[in-house]
Amino acid sequence: MKRFTRKGSAIVESAILIPVLVIALWLFICVSIVLMDWSNATFVVADELRMQSIKTAFVHEPISGPMLIKRRVEHESHMLNEFHVTKYRYLFSKNGIDDLIEFRCEGNFGGRNPLNLLSSVNLKQSVLCRAFTGCESLSKDKGEKENDKTVVYIFPGWGKHYHGKGCRTLKNNPMRVVLNRKIRSKYKCCPYSKKKKPKIGNVVMIFPNSGWDYHVPGCSHIEKYYEEILRSDAKQQGYTACAICGGQ
Ligand SMILES: [Zn+2]
Ligand SMILES: [Zn+2]
Repeated sequence: MKRFTRKGSAIVESAILIPVLVIALWLFICVSIVLMDWSNATFVVADELRMQSIKTAFVHEPISGPMLIKRRVEHESHMLNEFHVTKYRYLFSKNGIDDLIEFRCEGNFGGRNPLNLLSSVNLKQSVLCRAFTGCESLSKDKGEKENDKTVVYIFPGWGKHYHGKGCRTLKNNPMRVVLNRKIRSKYKCCPYSKKKKPKIGNVVMIFPNSGWDYHVPGCSHIEKYYEEILRSDAKQQGYTACAICGGQ
């Protein structure tokens, strides 16, 4: 009595192989979809940063960038569970190149396929571009810029002076920062801002000298705010030393 026929073993082999092939194909499709979605998000980030860099020729607007990018990525991506801005630097200098804009973010995919494969995938990216501010180059005061790492404070949109840390104009005004875990553990969200549900990576305002709340842009507690900048960058953007503190 024959127990195994050639035909029978082919059925056994295909019974094992076909599910393996189906799973492999499914996995390949999952990976491709995630990567396609992420490359679309990368395109959105690059496209929005391109717009930001063009806008700097007319207006310095550091706040809207992260929000616009986040909103557009979330709108155009169908797979992303979460999208966070982890870092946003506006008009800074690095290695002798000025007017840079840097955007770092991370996205989380997953949990949306029947087999629960790739149930959680985190991807990160960083995009760096140079803004069109109309400045030709640093050559004129390059030496001075490279040595000047002094941090000063400016009010974007309110006056053209830079201030030292102790200046009294900073005392009652909030500072613009990117919300991170450290700030979230030290400060609590103000009642108005709670409704807006600010996430890690969003721009918020804190009062470093008074108060333990953080606020989202547009909160009624915020009229004008200041932000940290290198003195060399402030000078290059046309800011001059404050008459009260001398910018020290
Ligand atoms: Zn001052
Ligand atoms: Zn508030």
